Amino acid sequence: MSVELHRWLRRFNLDEEIHAHVAAVFARLPASVRDDLVGDPAFLLADYDPTRASSIPVASPGRGLPSRSVVLKRTLLFRSAAFARYIIAHELAHAHLRNRGRTDQEDPELAADSLAADWGFPRPARIL
Ligand SMILES: [Zn+2]
Repeated sequence: MSVELHRWLRRFNLDEEIHAHVAAVFARLPASVRDDLVGDPAFLLADYDPTRASSIPVASPGRGLPSRSVVLKRTLLFRSAAFARYIIAHELAHAHLRNRGRTDQEDPELAADSLAADWGFPRPARIL
């Protein structure tokens, strides 16, 4: 992964382990998807500990378009790397697709799973 991308990810101040998972996922995104997210000044990535946080981080309002944000629970750290990266890829896919399907008819959840799988992060066979 490029130095610029690492620097860009640093701005979100993620937990170190979450940062490593996010970096691993970003490294496998197609350039067009990566550029879409990195180039959006309103894009927000955040993590929080649901057992301690008093409030969930939210994106600041952008200009016109609703801003895109991916908020990850630190409880991901108790899951396998494959599961954590699948969740991150799935959420980045939602952000890229602006919570829509790739067509008007497509279910946004199926679209996010399909893109995540295309990027090398398929939904684990068993989600406990
Ligand atoms: Zn989803």
